[in-house]
Amino acid sequence: MSNFHTIKGTHDLLPDECIIWRQVENSIHSIMQQSGYGEIRTPIFENTKLFERGIGTETDIVTKEMYSWIDQGGNQLTLKPELTAPVVRSYLQHKMGNNYPIHRLYYFDTLFRRERPQKGRQRQFYQFGAEAIGSANPEQDAEIIAQAYNIYQEFDIKNLNVRLNSIGSADIRPKYLDKLRSTIQSIKHELCKTCQERLKKNALRLFDCKNSNCQDLIDKHAPLIFDSISEDDHVHFDTITLILDEMGIPYIHDQKLVRGLDYYTHTTFEITSSVLGAQDALCGGGRYNGLIEQLGGKPTPAVGFAAGVERLILAIENQEKIPKNIDVYLIHMGDKVTPTAVKIANDVRKYCGKIVILETLRRSLKAQMREAGRSSAKITLILGEEELIEKIIIIKDMKTGHQEKVPLSELIQYINS
Ligand code: AMP
Repeated sequence: MSNFHTIKGTHDLLPDECIIWRQVENSIHSIMQQSGYGEIRTPIFENTKLFERGIGTETDIVTKEMYSWIDQGGNQLTLKPELTAPVVRSYLQHKMGNNYPIHRLYYFDTLFRRERPQKGRQRQFYQFGAEAIGSANPEQDAEIIAQAYNIYQEFDIKNLNVRLNSIGSADIRPKYLDKLRSTIQSIKHELCKTCQERLKKNALRLFDCKNSNCQDLIDKHAPLIFDSISEDDHVHFDTITLILDEMGIPYIHDQKLVRGLDYYTHTTFEITSSVLGAQDALCGGGRYNGLIEQLGGKPTPAVGFAAGVERLILAIENQEKIPKNIDVYLIHMGDKVTPTAVKIANDVRKYCGKIVILETLRRSLKAQMREAGRSSAKITLILGEEELIEKIIIIKDMKTGHQEKVPLSELIQYINS
């Protein structure tokens, strides 16, 4: 065994796992493209300041979890820990907003966060997500929620739970935060250290605390932001719920669901599934009408979501039952036969579009037969010296066990028929 291992919180994806990964990836591409979303790929590292400004200096990601370094040229760089900030950076850098009033972008990409690894929580992980930049209307929020929901439905994920809320527009925030701070001030000493800090720096994040004592206190004392949103914000929220009802997407209005960053406005949502256990969050998203301006652009409305790929794959039930999809196993015996066998494998791939496994270990007939059975191939082709002389090949149907001889010159036609 080698002395080298994957770094804590990272993992290899081996061929059997990649079968399901590839299927997930294909579905994501097709669902996104069906709705007119275009794929975007941004570099694996960016300027550290982009994340500080884009995610917020008080967040766990920026304070504790980024892989950052200074390169030989003195540049402060960071492996990307999230994708909205890079997508918005790209949107601004390429002046996309000047060419067209709306941009619908999606990604499937790898991220890095130095978190405590556990099932469903890694240090290198994948996310897919979508960002719709340009529309302030509620149908855009509903479409984004539906995009995420449709992907989970496509894979028949059980016990899905969509939670939805509105934190209103930015102008209601200062008054609400004053009210929140003054109410919580009297019970401040009963809160955890982190919440006491949050109260000072970003009080909305009090709602994100996982400590049960803090949760009880917040439940009991904190005013809810939903009770402070404006009439227009209510109309926006009600229209989204109306569209979701129309689409048959079930949701729960969770008035404690806030995304505690300055640039979030209006809609916040999360999709969870209890099949995942402790790390039950499949995806999170919302409207971020303030971010584009915060990163140096004109005020531009936007809404999006980000979803964990590892979590989706964990949630896919019975994934080991997914067939390997091998069509043909090609058995051959004898040195003289090998060149013809390799050519046949190549031709069947090329002219029949089949997945063909070619024996290259020169094992005994019995061992090759055993391997063909194990491979779950639909048919096995058998070519020995006798068959080569007679210019035929044996075809065995692995389901029925039926065997027949076919002239080599007719093999392609036979498989295609
Ligand atoms: P976030 O970008 O924190 O809003 O996360 C969006 C989604 O990404 C979550 O709902 C999870 O499904 C997934 N996710 C976040 N952090 C991790 C991680 N460390 N490992 C695996 N998946 C993660």
